[in-house]
Amino acid sequence: MYKAYFIDLDGTMYRGKDRIPTAEAFIKRLQEAKIPFLFVTNNATKTPAQVAENLRVNYGTEVSADEVYTSGVAAVDYLKSHFNVNRVMVIGEEAIKNQVKAAGYTLVSEEPEVVLQSLDRNVTYKDLETATLAIRNGATYIVTNIDSNLPSEKGPIPGSGAITGFLKVATQVEPIIIGKPSSVIMESALDYLNAKFPDRHFTKEDIAMVGDNYQTDIQAGIQYGMDTLMVLTGFSTREDLEKVEEQPTHLVEDLSEWTI
Ligand SMILES: [Mg+2]
Repeated sequence: MYKAYFIDLDGTMYRGKDRIPTAEAFIKRLQEAKIPFLFVTNNATKTPAQVAENLRVNYGTEVSADEVYTSGVAAVDYLKSHFNVNRVMVIGEEAIKNQVKAAGYTLVSEEPEVVLQSLDRNVTYKDLETATLAIRNGATYIVTNIDSNLPSEKGPIPGSGAITGFLKVATQVEPIIIGKPSSVIMESALDYLNAKFPDRHFTKEDIAMVGDNYQTDIQAGIQYGMDTLMVLTGFSTREDLEKVEEQPTHLVEDLSEWTI
């Protein structure tokens, strides 16, 4: 039915350390049917290679790095296509810093033209002060994702969006948001897929966005105008759907119910 799939990771392919065999089987079915897919993830603390490695080692899923599209990669693609700048301050971890450097930008800790903010588990007040002053002085403020929390063994800990909350209060500036539910990552992922398959041309009508989180994955699809396939293996529940007006295109308990 769909010519390609965009697929979320946590809650969709696995749940923390727990495997979701129906999701693993879904990927195998796509591979056998030669239906292209991309893992579209808000997590910018890992590179596509690290994500692929994690899927292979811990979740029995053999995919290549070019089948993973992170909000960090999307942020760099967005920077390249929308701005002519050089000096970028990154509030983020190794993966995104390396991606920004590899794209030819100069990483700076003062007077940036762009502040690119993601999850940084070592962020300091000094970093936030520098970013605040730069944004107030006109630097462009871009965030990879606004996820408020991430799951941990201890409970939900602050995510990228919690740092965004801090900077929004301090600057009174609304950032450009790259990750789901923003359409930026969806459009960018579609461009990426089309560049990967130059002899084919996918449109958003050809693709379904698969995910467990109504507010991020499903909203990303709805806002971008792409069909959505929601699974109940992760964050959002059937009860959550009773409270929202726009429903996912398809709803399944898990991916064994889905015929490709
Ligand atoms: Mg998820």
